[in-house]
Amino acid sequence: MNKKIAIIGGGIFGVSIYILLKQKGIDCCLFEKKKSLLKGATTNNLNRVHFGYHYPRDNLTAKQSYEGYKSFKNFYKDAIFQNFKNYYFIAKKSKVNFKNYVEFCKKNKLKYKIVKSVNLPFLIKNIQGGLEVNEPIYDWDILRNKVQSLIKRFKKNRVHLNENVLDIKKDKNYTIITNKDSYFFDIIIDASYDGSNSIIRKIKKPKKRKYQLVVVYEFELKKVKKMGLALMDGNFFSFLPKGKQNRYLLYHVKYSIIKEKVTSKFPSNWYKYKNFETLIKRSKKLIKKDLRYYLPSLKINLTSKKHISPRVILENVEKTDRRVSKIEEISKNYFQIFSAKVDHSIDIADRIYKKINKN
Ligand SMILES: Cc1cc2nc3c(=O)[nH]c(=O)nc-3n(C[C@H](O)[C@H](O)[C@H](O)COP(=O)(O)OP(=O)(O)OC[C@H]3O[C@@H](n4cnc5c(N)ncnc54)[C@H](O)[C@@H]3O)c2cc1C
Repeated sequence: MNKKIAIIGGGIFGVSIYILLKQKGIDCCLFEKKKSLLKGATTNNLNRVHFGYHYPRDNLTAKQSYEGYKSFKNFYKDAIFQNFKNYYFIAKKSKVNFKNYVEFCKKNKLKYKIVKSVNLPFLIKNIQGGLEVNEPIYDWDILRNKVQSLIKRFKKNRVHLNENVLDIKKDKNYTIITNKDSYFFDIIIDASYDGSNSIIRKIKKPKKRKYQLVVVYEFELKKVKKMGLALMDGNFFSFLPKGKQNRYLLYHVKYSIIKEKVTSKFPSNWYKYKNFETLIKRSKKLIKKDLRYYLPSLKINLTSKKHISPRVILENVEKTDRRVSKIEEISKNYFQIFSAKVDHSIDIADRIYKKINKN
């Protein structure tokens, strides 16, 4: 192919597209505004490799996650871990009752074992029931190393780090204007996640999204065998081991969100926002209250180590909690990636390959 291809964003979606295209012998160029790859939402999250258990109100998300897992595992096997017990509990105030949750797992061929809470090493209260599952996690650092070693195998790379795409103009082809230079391309693959709607503005009126600034907290869990726990389904919390480390990551569906707005581009003043401490203090206080209510005997001290990240979700999906990844051709040969779950990334890269191969 002699078309010039640019990929914007060095998160798991942009990087996977870059690697897959290069493996297929297609030359392309990657722009990342940070000084290294995988420093955005991909490595500031709960590190869950989704099988679908988390989305009982949307079969489509469950299906895309389980299907995506297969290709993701083939690509990034060394970064994936299953060496811990993982539980899903349905809270009394859940949006889905326990019976329906079990039905959902059966329907989506998600394996489970019903757990008796008496067998757990701590008390769990105010729940309807629980399942033990084999859903894995991925290690951020190992994933980053894996990506770098895959990229190093190519003879010639065109990865532009520290290069922020400021603007894109459409004429006969596309002109990308960065903080360093300007370039011409025939095909644009925009995987810049929170940055995307800001750079497409001259090409197409961006759709509104729900933008958030969210916090994932770290903690240690002593005297308890490595485990993960998700309380479902609604405004509850999850924690999982932090990759291979003896630490944990915790995320609360409601109280981890410190900023939220439905708008057509990520509010840029949030990046500069420094006064998080009051919001974090409040968030921690509310999370601790929930932890005491559901897990009264488990001592969880949220440390000061935390990960603050932008998040982009579709608007008006509260009813189903839909999290599907998709590709939209917003203008001829301009593909905007809407990413939802990390393990959708290889399937999306494959779909991009098929699309540009057709052109
Ligand atoms: C708190 C939280 C918890 C989550 N938990 C999970 C989970 O457990 N499992 C899961 O599968 N998913 C989870 N997600 C969702 C998942 O993290 C994201 O869907 C996924 O990481 C998005 O990948 P990405 O490559 O699109 O974005 P990113 O990883 O954010 O990459 C986008 C890249 O684009 C770059 N960029 C942006 N604008 C520009 C520009 N103008 N020029 C150049 N570069 C630019 C950014 O610097 C960034 O590196 C979570 C998300 C959050 C926020």
